Amino acid sequence: MKITFLGTGTSQGIPIIGSTHPVCLSKNPKDKRLRVSVLIEWDEYKYVIDCGPDFRQQMLRENCSKIDGIIFTHEHSDHVAGLDDIRPLCYWNGSMNIYAHERVIKSIKKRYDYIFEAENKYPGAPDVVINVIENKPFKLPEMEVVPINADHHFVQVFGFRFQDFAYLTDIKTVEANEIEKLKDIKVLVVNALRITPHISHFNLEEALDFINLIKPEKAYLTHISHLLGFHDNVEKELPKNVFLAYDGLKITL
Ligand SMILES: [Zn+2]
Ligand SMILES: [Zn+2]
Repeated sequence: MKITFLGTGTSQGIPIIGSTHPVCLSKNPKDKRLRVSVLIEWDEYKYVIDCGPDFRQQMLRENCSKIDGIIFTHEHSDHVAGLDDIRPLCYWNGSMNIYAHERVIKSIKKRYDYIFEAENKYPGAPDVVINVIENKPFKLPEMEVVPINADHHFVQVFGFRFQDFAYLTDIKTVEANEIEKLKDIKVLVVNALRITPHISHFNLEEALDFINLIKPEKAYLTHISHLLGFHDNVEKELPKNVFLAYDGLKITL
């Protein structure tokens, strides 16, 4: 399995438009973060988790012209706002499978009503096949995916386990029985927004406590705000099996 971090930034990305914060002005490419998403590849299959407003740029950067499906964590704009940009992928490969909680599908239908038009649908509009997911394992080709239910303040959010890899973003609390699903994981990705606490996201301390609880071989932090600090400075202070993800980072399991 190969994982590519398509984006590792929080909702506004880094730099933030107009910001003069030193991290936003940093010349280090690792301090430039598009909105969060990962590409997961196994055999000949390619899936992405979330499809944010930087999706087009991410597909171009990774030279990706085929995606077998999009799995959504939740309906916030930084995770769904790239959906119109699947048009060329539909043109090349046909309809796109989307996997999401029923509530998230409802939200996507509201935002992108023209995609779901039954009559007189505009010919160039994206073509999607809806797959509703619940909090139980579901099948992709040659792969079982286990959803991990979590809370993002008052919004329900799914993390996903693919064999020895798990990806959780935009989480603030996870119940003990859901944490059980992460047992014996090798690589864990989890969100760490900034140093100070936040109402709906793990801060760095909460993310490290969570990692300590799960004890993966390696952990990567994502959904990062400029307020976490410079990439190189923060990474130096992390435990030896914990890393800051950055855009374009690839890992193989
Ligand atoms: Zn987010
Ligand atoms: Zn969110």
